[in-house]
Amino acid sequence: MIVMKFGGTSVESAAAMERIAGIVGSYAHRKPLVVVSAMGKTTNRLLAAADKAAAGNVEDALRDAEELRAFHRKEGGAAVPAESLGTLNALLETHFGELEVTLEAIAKAGEVTAALWDEVCSYGERLSSSIVALAFPKFGVAARHLDARSVLVTDSRHGQALPLYSRTYQRFAEKAAPMVEESVVVMGGFIGATVDGVTTTLGRGGSDFSAAIAGAGLGAEEIQIWTDVDGMLTCDPRVLAGGHLVRHISFVEAAELAYFGAKVLHPATVLPAIEKNIPVRILNSRRPEVEGTLIVSEPVPCTNFVKSIACKKDITVVSIRSLRMLMAHGFLRRIFEVFDRYRTPVDMVSTSEVSVSLTIDQTRFLSDIEAELSKIAEVTVLPNQAIICLVGDALRETSGVAERIFSAIKDVNIRMISQGASLMNVSLVVDGADLVRAVDALHREFFTVLDPEVF
Ligand code: ASP
Repeated sequence: MIVMKFGGTSVESAAAMERIAGIVGSYAHRKPLVVVSAMGKTTNRLLAAADKAAAGNVEDALRDAEELRAFHRKEGGAAVPAESLGTLNALLETHFGELEVTLEAIAKAGEVTAALWDEVCSYGERLSSSIVALAFPKFGVAARHLDARSVLVTDSRHGQALPLYSRTYQRFAEKAAPMVEESVVVMGGFIGATVDGVTTTLGRGGSDFSAAIAGAGLGAEEIQIWTDVDGMLTCDPRVLAGGHLVRHISFVEAAELAYFGAKVLHPATVLPAIEKNIPVRILNSRRPEVEGTLIVSEPVPCTNFVKSIACKKDITVVSIRSLRMLMAHGFLRRIFEVFDRYRTPVDMVSTSEVSVSLTIDQTRFLSDIEAELSKIAEVTVLPNQAIICLVGDALRETSGVAERIFSAIKDVNIRMISQGASLMNVSLVVDGADLVRAVDALHREFFTVLDPEVF
């Protein structure tokens, strides 16, 4: 058994559904459970409708719902076989009928409670999964639909629910596994239900999480996350072209990369799979022949000790200096409290006895933060910076890395350096204008000779 997850763009149209049917069909012998997101931008559009209803614009909200109904009818109508058109129409009728009632309830309440938010969002995946299951037979893939809410049992933290693992795994084993033995099964990602059957969601982008939970529950051989990129590369393609595909990477390395902007996958979402030692493969639905990146729980031996270079652009460095820091305690706490109060995440930190430099990428409250910090210290703000992060399991045991890094970019001014927290990354802050030049030099230094087992 395998789990295959497809995101919103992979199911956004009849043509897209035909393409994924071809991919799923070619894996039919491995008994797939398919997890899909809502079609295209449906989740955002549902949320916009809910907001309009809450603001009292019921007519606008219902018009949005009508547009979504037309979109699903058009693409669904083109995707499903003629004999399923009646089923499709009935499906649209009930789902959109219920959605309208929900939008009216939101308008009456004047707010979107977390439970109603989940209810509204859930129509995206409920519809997409039902339509994909109806469409597959037209493209030669026998399929059945599974309502995720009947297997994925969660707590009642609406909007960010967490699975009740043992119950969920039991249901996957009892209900989903026998279905997968018979034919391809299609399930909506992102949604679940409480023990009492109230609809919940796992948080935005939650379909990857659903795929990992399903894989863990089924004891799948592999979880495939189908995206629109080939997998993880040795450098961020938005910064530098010509990176090589990383074929094997450890979970911890993938987590470091994701944190620094390699937005292929949020590693926390695949944790249930990693805990059960189930490999997760990132694949490209537009180039299914590319083998992709396999994420495994154990470190991957590799003669290149750097696996990839990730970057984060448009970073601001805030430096805080105060002689009062000298030998004092509690000073750092006061500084971080300010960032906490303004809900501003801090990425990199380096400290000396009298100063702290840190990086942020959300600057919405920067002037307030600066004003507050100025009461206790001298503050300087440096915009347009970039973080470069070299990641590799082997960095922890390799000497001479720093020398190679610094000589590769000896003519670039480095503003901050950090190594050690995870022992497998070295992060540098450079001026945004130097980013491409620095990444290019580092990439040439570390990836001119490649371990054929890994790249
Ligand atoms: N449809 C949901 C979202 O847009 C979940 C997902 O696509 O993973 O966040």
